[in-house]
Amino acid sequence: MSITEETRPTGAAGAAQAGAGYTVQHYINGARVESKSGRAADVFNPALGVPVGKVVLADESEVDAAVAAAKAAFPAWSQTPPVARARVMFRFLQLMQEHRKELAAHIVREHGKVFDDALGEVARGIDVIEFATGMPQLLKGEYTEQVSRGIDAWSIRQPLGVCAGITPFNFPAMVPLWMIPVALAAGNSFVLKPSERDPSASLMLADLLTEAGLPEGVFNVVQGDKVAVDRLLQHPDVEAVSFVGSTPVAQYIYSTGTAAGKRVQALGGAKNHMVVMPDADLDKCCDALMGAAYGSAGERCMAISVAVAVGDVGDKLIEKLSPRVKSIKIAEGNVEGAEMGPVVTAAAKARIDELIGTGVDQNAVLVVDGRDAKIDGYEDGFFCGGTLFDKVTPEMEIYKEEIFGPVLCVVRVPDLKSAVELIESNPYGNGVALFTSDGGVAREFTHNINVGMVGVNVPLPVPMAFNSFGGWKASLFGDHHIYGPEGVRFYTRHKAAMQRWPDSIAKGAEFAFPEMK
Ligand code: NAD
Repeated sequence: MSITEETRPTGAAGAAQAGAGYTVQHYINGARVESKSGRAADVFNPALGVPVGKVVLADESEVDAAVAAAKAAFPAWSQTPPVARARVMFRFLQLMQEHRKELAAHIVREHGKVFDDALGEVARGIDVIEFATGMPQLLKGEYTEQVSRGIDAWSIRQPLGVCAGITPFNFPAMVPLWMIPVALAAGNSFVLKPSERDPSASLMLADLLTEAGLPEGVFNVVQGDKVAVDRLLQHPDVEAVSFVGSTPVAQYIYSTGTAAGKRVQALGGAKNHMVVMPDADLDKCCDALMGAAYGSAGERCMAISVAVAVGDVGDKLIEKLSPRVKSIKIAEGNVEGAEMGPVVTAAAKARIDELIGTGVDQNAVLVVDGRDAKIDGYEDGFFCGGTLFDKVTPEMEIYKEEIFGPVLCVVRVPDLKSAVELIESNPYGNGVALFTSDGGVAREFTHNINVGMVGVNVPLPVPMAFNSFGGWKASLFGDHHIYGPEGVRFYTRHKAAMQRWPDSIAKGAEFAFPEMK
């Protein structure tokens, strides 16, 4: 069944029905390709807690077929004028806007996040396509006339060849779109290996790119697991790898890919802190924390998982937060007014529950316990309730681990200096926020803190598409952040050229404007 703008599925029936019994295939050379590997995995609807489809898992030969298609498509695509490539992006942008609700419905079904949040994810992905429509301007080089007598010099940026993207479950549309529009508009061809947990969005992106006029083979999708990833990392025809996922896998991708001679950017996990100063507006802090800690059930790499209460702010913060955490509206993602859906798998729920247990064992104060959340009509769903811990210390597992669930830990510190020391000792450095009404403190914090993305009175400082996204320390391995100008640098290489022309070449008269084709 195809989900149109008008037929947003509702309730359990809709959640089960939409796409029931489907198989998600590879997409190679402009078409869906049936897998011959004999390997497959279940795709769950996390709200129902049951498999609703299957995804094929590539063997090495299927990865080789996708890379071969991308390699064959690269010469013609890279020779296509940037303005013609940008026009494909314009059409893709329009198609994505037309189909955004359909794409969001796939995300709700397989990921579990609420519909409006899924629409928001799609919107942030569309932003990157919009950025990529400006690629002719972004690819312009620099020119120096007369570096020596009769000699001019310039620099240009050229595409790399076949690029691969390996993406996580938590943003099945947005994270692939952090990569694909920039890579393609810069003249590369691409092989995407999406998460096997929620793979349907990848095929919709492929269909829309083809409909937008992208030539066959320029964009390909291989569904799969570690077997596919390892083949991409070793394949001699893959020039560059963009990875987004957990830190241990990011580290592995970076070391393996670079050892195989590839350009790699590998974005990893996070433990993001929000510092609450005594002079901050506490109502605004609580609004910010509710969305940033519990939105998307905490399954965001920019989620705030630690609130650092400075001075005497801790008691007031807990008093304001706890009734709000207890009353989060948890429901299947299509239910009107739902604020939080399920987590992605039964294993994720078991892991979150176990970590909450370690918090209790290690004497953190469990203010709100979300472990026994049950949703009527969805008794088997992977729901976790909002959980709030107070008096957490850095030695506890719940502080050290990236929980990746709806669990907020409040750590109390005496002053800003201690808050900064806490954040700087943390191995991760993705995002951080400071809530204060003091401009001087905010400026100092922004300037000095050892974290890649900083928000002042902004809980999730996710850069827009024309800036670039990326953390520091164990949150990113590689030299480039992703999308925006950093993305253009990642997906192109620099060439320096110099020319001398003792005699100019006469071409004869031309009476018409040349047309770019
Ligand atoms: P994950 O690391 O388990 O999987 C990411 C991708 O790697 C998937 O495509 C998966 O198939 C593949 N993979 C998994 N294990 C592998 C292995 N051993 N060898 C090779 N490939 C492997 O991550 P996830 O659970 O899908 O996503 C959640 C994680 O991603 C969290 O840690 C989150 O913080 C992180 N994340 C980071 C960012 C960021 O921008 N820094 C953004 C989104 C998510």
